[in-house]
Parts: sequence; C-alpha cells; structure tokens
Amino acid sequence: MNILIMGAPGSGKGTMSARIVQKFNLTHISTGDIFRSEIKNETELGKTAKSYIEKGLLVPDSVTNPMVVSFLEKNNIENGYLLDGYPRTLAQAEVYGELIKNSSLEIDLVINLDVNYEIIKERITGRWMSPEGKIYHVKYNPPKVEGICDVSGSQLFQRKDDTLESVVVRLEEYDNNTKPVLEFYAKQGKLVNIDGERSMDEVFADIEKLLEKK
Ligand code: AMP
Repeated sequence: MNILIMGAPGSGKGTMSARIVQKFNLTHISTGDIFRSEIKNETELGKTAKSYIEKGLLVPDSVTNPMVVSFLEKNNIENGYLLDGYPRTLAQAEVYGELIKNSSLEIDLVINLDVNYEIIKERITGRWMSPEGKIYHVKYNPPKVEGICDVSGSQLFQRKDDTLESVVVRLEEYDNNTKPVLEFYAKQGKLVNIDGERSMDEVFADIEKLLEKK
C-alpha cells in the first residue's frame, strides 16, 4: 500500500505520518525531514535548501525531485510507503507520476488533512519538537515536563520556519503551488479529504478505518 499524505503546514501530517507508518509498517518518506537532516549535516544540498526553508519558500523542483529519486534508489521499499510533504507542486506531481508509472510504487490513496488557516497559525507557532522528531504543542499536546521530550528526555526546540512570519509565506506557497496538486489527484479519483481539526486520536481513527479497507 502506497499512500500520500497532504495538507497545509501544521495540518498534522507529521504527527499522523508517525502513527500511520508504525501501525501499517510503511516506509516514511518526508522531504521536510530529509532537508532538515541535510541541513544538520551541512551538505551542499542542505546549504541550498536552508536559504529557502528558513524563509518559508519551497525548495526548487530542480533540487527536490532528484533528492526524492535518490532516496528511492537508496532505500528498498518492501511493504509500501507513506510520502509526506511531496509532491508539493504540480511539476513535482507530474515528474513523480512518470517516475513511478507502472511500478510497485504507484500511489493507491491520497489523504488530505483539512484545517483552517487560523488554527494552523496557532498550531505552528506553539509547536515544539524533539531532535528525534517527536512533535509537541504547548497547549494541545504538551510534554510532561516543560521543554523536555517524554520519550527520549532530550531538550525540545522550535523549528526555525515555525514563526508567524514564515507561516504566512508557507501558506501562500501552499495556496499557489500545492492546492493544484490536490486537484491533480482528485481527478485520478485518489483523493480523500479528512477533517483535521479534531483531536489527534479522532483524526487517526478515521485514517485507520480508511487504510484497513484498502
Ligand atoms: P515540512 O517539514 O513538510 O513542513 O517542510 C519544511 C520545508 O521544507 C517547506 O516549507 C519547504 O521549504 C521544504 N520542502 C519540503 N518538502 C518540499 C517539497 N516537496 N518541495 C519543495 N520544498 C519542500
């Protein structure tokens, strides 16, 4: 089973992805996570990506597409995958569509988490992460001890692009570039919209039901 998870920044893609891949034993491919790891390792790709990401802009397709291809070449996907944060432009969707055409990587289902932008702004500006990628929110999902990850005990941090200023740009990018991708998959009959404004457990319960039918 190959799934794509979509939604505006802060719609819950990261949180849901972690739960989906664990429950359904899928390979998680998150372009945002790959970029953050490249930035941390100070690679050339990371240096290029950083200048865009910190401003809230999309990294150019000429950088992003080859990075995804290289990930797929290096990782043997045996039990399906969950693609998170890609494709984010129509051009990416077209390139990816060609790449996986008639292969075992064909997408079966596209889940879109629907959340209104006022809620998104509150979610993103209150978001804290552990270095291992666990996501918290000061109000909606706080750690037991302020600033410390419940699981690893590591110090939590805020993403550099989780400022209000950057979120406004990211939402513009989403409107201009990513919304057409939803239309692209809707036309293929693969898109399922899920109300992402409810609690994490409620949203996940819906996703589980959907995937169990697949
Ligand atoms: P995310 O963790 O998915 O919110 O992604 C963080 C940032 O990484 C985005 O705001 C973009 O700057 C960049 N990014 C992630 N995925 C893509 C993509 N598919 N195309 C272009 N930029 C991306």
